[in-house]
Parts: sequence; structure tokens; C-alpha cells
Amino acid sequence: MDAAFNGASRFRVVIACEPVTRMAATMDPKWNGQFSCFDLVAKTDAGSRTVVRVRDLEIGGGEFVVMAGPCAVESEAQILQTAEAVAGAGARILRGGAYKPRSSPYAFQGLGVEGLKLLRKAREQTGLAIVTEVISEEDVEVIAEYADIMQVGTRSMENYSLLKALGDCGRPVLLKRGMTATIEELMRSAQVLADAGNPDIILCERGIRTFETATRNTLDIAAVPVLKTVSHLPVIVDPSHAAGVRSLLPALARAATVVGSDGLLVEVHPCPEQALSDGNQSLSFREFRRMMLDLQPYLDLLQRTQHARDQLLAARGVD
Ligand code: PEP
Ligand code: MN
Repeated sequence: MDAAFNGASRFRVVIACEPVTRMAATMDPKWNGQFSCFDLVAKTDAGSRTVVRVRDLEIGGGEFVVMAGPCAVESEAQILQTAEAVAGAGARILRGGAYKPRSSPYAFQGLGVEGLKLLRKAREQTGLAIVTEVISEEDVEVIAEYADIMQVGTRSMENYSLLKALGDCGRPVLLKRGMTATIEELMRSAQVLADAGNPDIILCERGIRTFETATRNTLDIAAVPVLKTVSHLPVIVDPSHAAGVRSLLPALARAATVVGSDGLLVEVHPCPEQALSDGNQSLSFREFRRMMLDLQPYLDLLQRTQHARDQLLAARGVD
């Protein structure tokens, strides 16, 4: 238990709930008015959903895709061991920052190109695709040479010159929500990217800043069904940066599955206590394996209920 939670009372709530499905919320007229101006990324009645293709993977195509790895690439042994461990537990994409935007200017800033080379080596060894962050326009070209997905972090969501530089980078973009950004502002940034020529965008809810201090940020779980309703883009959840506390990750990951997230971005480290960044919110290999096993019944249930719902609607002639 994290020290911040000591003294909390424990109780159990049992609620009868409707069968869970991935059915999106219905479009509210308010949202229509609010988001339809972002015409390249907003959902229209006629349009289909965007499926982002990354190597042999489809994000937003029905499979729940887990991206996992350390906050930062620290050494060859660290990234290669992590890649093997997360691949063995069912992750499909390896995350790891080579260029780190840190809150403190004196904190570890990442290994730069050396980090990118290590990520490439990890891909060669495991077949995992690579997602890594880009913080500056000048680095777009070199990062696109090594990465399969370009991550735009919370601090860069409104860096429009970076977004424009990613327009023709030839790689999909994982666009994280700014820590104080509204859903409308996230949609606006996605529109800037799409307008710059890049339609392959994955939106990421990673927690927003609120008055709450028990967690690092507040996971805005409602943002997932809102985004899935107002946009045709895939949406994933980062429970690590939302929670800031590793023991919360399994619960937040479960929540992400049932609200219709297309996947997760999770921090995992061989020895979280010694991580150079974000150790407190990183899972050990064992904890990550457990979290993945814990998620499986929820994913199975979703698939079964989705299938049953589709059959029922078809039998009754309902669209
Ligand atoms: C990260 O993914 O390590 C990261 C820095 O995330 P965020 O931009 O959401 O803080
Ligand atoms: Mn991090």
C-alpha cells in the first residue's frame, strides 16, 4: 500500500450492473455543435472509424493493443530485458523515451540517438513495434527513422509547429492530452495534425490536473466514451501517468477496457525502485504479467457481450 493511502477504511460495494458493451454513447447535440468544426477528426454519421496500421498491427480495429515499457530508455540491458518481458506478457508495442521532457531541468533527459538505437535493437529481437516521444521539430526526422509511432507528450499537445512538422513524417502519431487541456483542445490539436497531412492519429487520455493530490493526475475516464463518440480516431488510456502510483494501475486498466478504450500505454521497469524516471508509477515485470492476466476476463467478456449484442440487434432488425 502506498503511504498516501494509510488509514483509509476498506469496504465493499456490490452493484448490479447492465452487461458491459463497447457501444459508444450516443451523439449529444451539444457535442455536435462543439466538435463538428474539427471536420477532419470529428465523427460523421456516414464516416467509418480510423484504424491505424502499425507494422502487422491495427489500432482501433477491435484488438485491445497494449503498449508497455520504461518511462525512459536507460541502458541496453534495461530495454532488452523489458522488451522480452512485456512481449511475453502480451504487449504488442514497446514504449520508451529517448528524448525526455522533464519537469525539472536537472532530471535525466534521456539517451537521445543512443536510446533510439537501443529501441531498434529491441524491435529486432522481439518483433515489437516502437513508440517513443518527440519533443522538438528538429528531431522529427531522426526519430521517424527509428520509431513506428511518434508520441507527442502532454507538454507538447499544443506545440503547433511540432504538430505541423509531424504532418508528413510518414509515421502515426500518439497524441497525449495536455494535462490542463479540455477535450475540445485535444480535438483541435488532432485537427492541426490531420490538416498538416497526417490522418493516422491515436488519442491518449493520460489524466488531467485537478485539485486531487492522492493521485498524480485525475484519470478522466469519461473522456474515452466522449472521444469515441465525437471522433473516429482510436483512443487509448495511459493509467501510469494518471495514477502516479503503481498499485492503482490494474484498476484503472480494467476501467479503460470497459469504457471502450482501444488499448493502453503502461510503464514497466525491471527494477522500478531504481528507475531514472517515474519509478513510483512503473510496474515490475511480475506486476505487469499479473495485470495482463487480470484484464483477460474483462476483454473476453467484452468480446462475448459485443457479439451477443450484435446478434440480438440483427435478429430484431435494429441498426
Ligand atoms: C511519458 O509517456 O513518459 C510521458 C512523459 O508522458 P506525459 O507526456 O503524458 O507526461
Ligand atoms: Mn513517464
